Amino acid sequence: MISFAAQRPFLIAGPCGVESPDQLAQLGQSLIHLPVKLFRAGIWKPRTRPGSFEGMGEEGLKWLADFKARFGIPTAVEVATPAHVELALKYGIDALWIGARTTVSPFNVQDIADAVKGTSIPVLVKNPVNPDVNLWQGAIERFRNSGITELAAIHRGFSSYDHTGPYRNKPNWAIPIELRRRMPGLPIINDPSHIAGRRDLLLGVAQKAMDLGFEGLMIEVHPNPAEAWSDAEQQLTPDAYSALLNELVIRKPSTEDSAARGTLEYYRQIIDSLDAEIVDLIGKRMELASRLGDLKKECNLTAYIPERWQEIVETRTERGKKNNLDANLILHLFELIHQESIRIQTEVMNQSALKNS
Ligand code: PEP
Ligand code: MN
Repeated sequence: MISFAAQRPFLIAGPCGVESPDQLAQLGQSLIHLPVKLFRAGIWKPRTRPGSFEGMGEEGLKWLADFKARFGIPTAVEVATPAHVELALKYGIDALWIGARTTVSPFNVQDIADAVKGTSIPVLVKNPVNPDVNLWQGAIERFRNSGITELAAIHRGFSSYDHTGPYRNKPNWAIPIELRRRMPGLPIINDPSHIAGRRDLLLGVAQKAMDLGFEGLMIEVHPNPAEAWSDAEQQLTPDAYSALLNELVIRKPSTEDSAARGTLEYYRQIIDSLDAEIVDLIGKRMELASRLGDLKKECNLTAYIPERWQEIVETRTERGKKNNLDANLILHLFELIHQESIRIQTEVMNQSALKNS
């Protein structure tokens, strides 16, 4: 019986999609020597656009059953409909996961939760593609309500309109951390493959997840990643998977000698990721300041508009109050931010003036 919390890190590895019996045999021969608690393999692939590889379907399930009989590694597939659940159960799949595109839809999730009712199959729920912790929590609750007791969340990152970061999907670490606060005891498995989207960035993401105390990792592994029919850029060879595990430092969330130290460390890491977000947001805000500068120059407006500054102080103080923040803190913080914004605007306005002259 699978227990996601039994061992840390709980390791899930396997290809993005099942492609052939030979692919599975090659993987089995390598992975049998490596730590893998669960073999992941997509049988039905949700593709953003038509025409891409959509999975092998039922035939792939037969190959997976052979794989398990031969190598003894339990298997997991993604399910998106009750029909998928029925087939996966029929072929003896050991665990199911709900994909990020399914978690966004409470109707679909409920249909799947109804389909597993009365079984004891372990279920992993990926975060929804949009950064909404309520949807994620709600999907997990639907499975809990169906009587599923072996549950875990998978953190696979979030889609964004802004593709400036290094990753395919933004990790938004604060969201799984908030899920953990709301659902203590629920194991969280990090999926660095779908967050990073690039082989060379996987280790950094996986290490961060371990540093945050997540319980496990789900990593895409393929015998020949460059030739993979889906997600070719992010899959690892079994050797690279092994190397990643060797480099990974598994830090404990608390120290034996002092529980307080562990707690302190945990809070610091949350603060680090929040601070990173604050800095990124300030960066974005300053980018807008420079566009404002251009516009104000064009419209012959002053950089500093007293009414606007007054409005900023009032609205931010009000919002601060709701978050138990001192009015003085808000005033000082926004004085700094606003001053810098004005400095950038005037610089932009004067630069354009120089260019135009
Ligand atoms: C996958 O795990 O291959 C997959 C399709 O993931 P996600 O639902 O996270 O996009
Ligand atoms: Mn994939």
